[in-house]
Amino acid sequence: MWQQRADVVVIGTGVAGLVAALAAHRRGRTVMVLSKAVDTATFYAQGGIAVVLPDTDDSIDAHVADTIAAGAGLCDPGAVRSIVSDGYRAVIELVDSGARFDEDERGQWSLTREGGHSRRRIIHSGGDATGAEVQRALDHAAATLDIRRNHVALQVLQSGGAVTGVQVLNQDGLGIVHAPSVVLATGGLGHLYSATTNPEGSTGDGVALALWAGVPISDIEFIQFHPTMLYDGHAGGRRPLITEAVRGEGGILLDRQGNSVTAGVHPMGDLAPRDVVAAAIDARLRETGDPCAYLDARGIADFARRFPTVTAACNAAGIDPTSQPIPVVPGAHYSCGGVVADVHGRTEVPGLFAAGEVARTGMHGANRLASNSLLEGLVVGGRAGKAAARHAVDTGPTRAETGEVETRVALPRRKLQRAMSRYASVVRDADGLQRLTQELEAADPRDLDCRTSFEDVALTTTARAVTAAALSRNESRGCHHRSDFPETDPALARSQVLEAACC
Ligand SMILES: Cc1cc2nc3c(=O)[nH]c(=O)nc-3n(C[C@H](O)[C@H](O)[C@H](O)COP(=O)(O)OP(=O)(O)OC[C@H]3O[C@@H](n4cnc5c(N)ncnc54)[C@H](O)[C@@H]3O)c2cc1C
Repeated sequence: MWQQRADVVVIGTGVAGLVAALAAHRRGRTVMVLSKAVDTATFYAQGGIAVVLPDTDDSIDAHVADTIAAGAGLCDPGAVRSIVSDGYRAVIELVDSGARFDEDERGQWSLTREGGHSRRRIIHSGGDATGAEVQRALDHAAATLDIRRNHVALQVLQSGGAVTGVQVLNQDGLGIVHAPSVVLATGGLGHLYSATTNPEGSTGDGVALALWAGVPISDIEFIQFHPTMLYDGHAGGRRPLITEAVRGEGGILLDRQGNSVTAGVHPMGDLAPRDVVAAAIDARLRETGDPCAYLDARGIADFARRFPTVTAACNAAGIDPTSQPIPVVPGAHYSCGGVVADVHGRTEVPGLFAAGEVARTGMHGANRLASNSLLEGLVVGGRAGKAAARHAVDTGPTRAETGEVETRVALPRRKLQRAMSRYASVVRDADGLQRLTQELEAADPRDLDCRTSFEDVALTTTARAVTAAALSRNESRGCHHRSDFPETDPALARSQVLEAACC
């Protein structure tokens, strides 16, 4: 078994991981960054970063209020204020790392508006290619760091209740990185479902790693389904996203017969909150039996220049968005909940930190406001890196026990994804969730001898957590819709916390 040592191990090379790694590195700590894949969700982000700029008509109070309204009663107001207030500083730090954002004719950052925001406060890059620019700038800034690709983190190791390192699988087999501080920045869990906007690596690993380490998770039933994922007849795997900004610029959602999908559903029509639009499309598709709805963007002037990423994705699927409606379906997009952590990324276990999409800081509550996740990744990623560096100094070097890899259980991936898509998708009910619980119980022991096996195990653990949380929330709130409990119950306006025993 190979062995390595670092002060801080960061798991993940998206926005949260690289910002954390850079922050710990700047504090003089030896940092090792692990990544199992090249792809990150960060790279694919389109719309932008929500941030309050000084000397505008915007305010921290307004951004906090919009975020809390979207979170449907479950945001932690203190966490929201703390993160939003630090946004501009974090964005400037990103600019110092080389990121560039689109400007208007006066040379000011061009601001756009997305669903749920009361002001124009979204900065973007390359039109709809913000994530690619954020990733480019951070990859460049982190180029001299010790980044290990094709390294899969299998388990967080502890002794006496504190972190001692990480068990890792790479091309040389099993190994251990001894470290007093470990930062989980593993992103989301979209591949719980057959079709998702998320990259291949979004398999809920961080949630599973945290649960196995004895760290609770929360708000995990709140999975945001984006209403407009490109549908090209191939239902599975990562599918391109058609950004909400297309509807913001005048694109309209229609069914195959040419009827509006959202008329009479919500006063904001096609620009209603994402969960409302996703549920409206889901209902219409169930009603008609059609495989997809359509986003008609033919009326948008200069479409290809404003939406180059969307145009390229459509063209690759043989669709010309300027001459035909774009076929779309709702798709698993974002995990609002995750590993319970504070706004500095600290979890209950000393030495274990979580930042980015994997973390539940209280920022998103029951529903994430568009473009708030890159913001959270930047702010909490940086703070987690600092806190991890400080913890490493306070603790000093550690020596992890070279234990056996634990045998864990997994359901075959396609089977799990089919069951989750059927029973725990945009709209759920108790019967379906109970059936899903039974299907997930049929998981078989699996050796953690390759990335795929590990991911299947992580998906199964995470699916059980999502199912347990969704089953016990007997109401509809935020992006959790229950057809058997369509109303929001004021008595349930609190987060559920799950421990490893649930799953
Ligand atoms: C198509 C799309 C568009 C989006 N648009 C926006 C937007 O406009 N604005 C916005 O704010 N948000 C947007 N989001 C959400 C946002 O992009 C993500 O929430 C955010 O980038 C997540 O960053 P992260 O650093 O937490 O994780 P990621 O960027 O997903 O990085 C996760 C990293 O963890 C690694 N990893 C995972 N598990 C392991 C393991 N076991 N071992 C080793 N490495 C591991 C992966 O390889 C990867 O490097 C979008 C998301 C998608 C998918």
